[in-house]
Amino acid sequence: MLSIQIPFNKLVLPPFGQFTITEVEIVKSPVAIRKKLLALTESKKKIGFVPTMGALHQGHESLVKRAVSENDITVVSIFVNPAQFNNPADFEKYPNNFENDVAQLRQLGCDYVFAPDTAEMYPQKPRVSISVPELQQQMEGRFRPGHFEGVSLVVAKLFHFVPARRVYFGQKDWQQYLIVRQLVTELAFDVEIVWVPTVRETDGLALSSRNLRLSSEGRKKAATLYQLLRMAQAELKNGAAVKTVKNMVQEAALQSGCADLEYFEVADRETLKPVERVEGDGATVSLFIAGYVEGIRLIDNIFLTE
Ligand code: AMP
Repeated sequence: MLSIQIPFNKLVLPPFGQFTITEVEIVKSPVAIRKKLLALTESKKKIGFVPTMGALHQGHESLVKRAVSENDITVVSIFVNPAQFNNPADFEKYPNNFENDVAQLRQLGCDYVFAPDTAEMYPQKPRVSISVPELQQQMEGRFRPGHFEGVSLVVAKLFHFVPARRVYFGQKDWQQYLIVRQLVTELAFDVEIVWVPTVRETDGLALSSRNLRLSSEGRKKAATLYQLLRMAQAELKNGAAVKTVKNMVQEAALQSGCADLEYFEVADRETLKPVERVEGDGATVSLFIAGYVEGIRLIDNIFLTE
């Protein structure tokens, strides 16, 4: 009798007791991925796309699961985009976990991993720059000059190579989500953009690939960023003035000695314009924070009303 052995991690059990073998294909060439995916769109397959920089964690996982559940084919890109790093040391030290990432994606039911080389994504020094000034002049754009130009350029290229029906971004990088959404609208990319809530550790720390660079002590300290957001949220909901709350957050951060704050901002969730006073229930207000823990830059945000 012929027996075929299938490694357990390649088996996905569908509800009706049949076995399906899922295999993930790794594609490095932008031209090749585009060709493969265009052929699939011609046969009416809906493609879901999750752009990442790898070192995957459960935050990425929730995006991938959503993509798998809503589309016929799921593509995850893994590309640490040099153009979006304003700090060369941050780029050099960015974690790389490719083998584990692929194993994780296989288990999640991802179909294609698009992992291009830098030379293929940037065959020449970019001479094109895309910017969304209104949305990038504050917070991340202000403190990381050139960051969003790098994000917009790589996203435009990725959308070109991956003809997706839906693309998934995390709430954790809310400013990035808004900028990409604007880019999609204005450049008329035929793709639906979906945001997915932030996944957190039990102590509230937002999962991030950069957390891998923290010591266990540093991880505990890093949860302070979320605690400061929650404290500010409670104060604002109790009617405290925005200015007072901003001072409280700065003071509490200093007192705790856990994180060097870069900014704490209260802003409109859609326009990102700073909010001076919370009107009504503040349904469109969000709180944003960035700070350094053990020299590693971390960001987080929450909606005022969740
Ligand atoms: P990155 O690999 O950091 O570029 O992130 C890839 C995508 O995953 C982005 O859309 C992020 O917003 C999203 N992401 C990162 N961390 C989380 C998290 N903790 N929860 C949900 N989404 C996340």
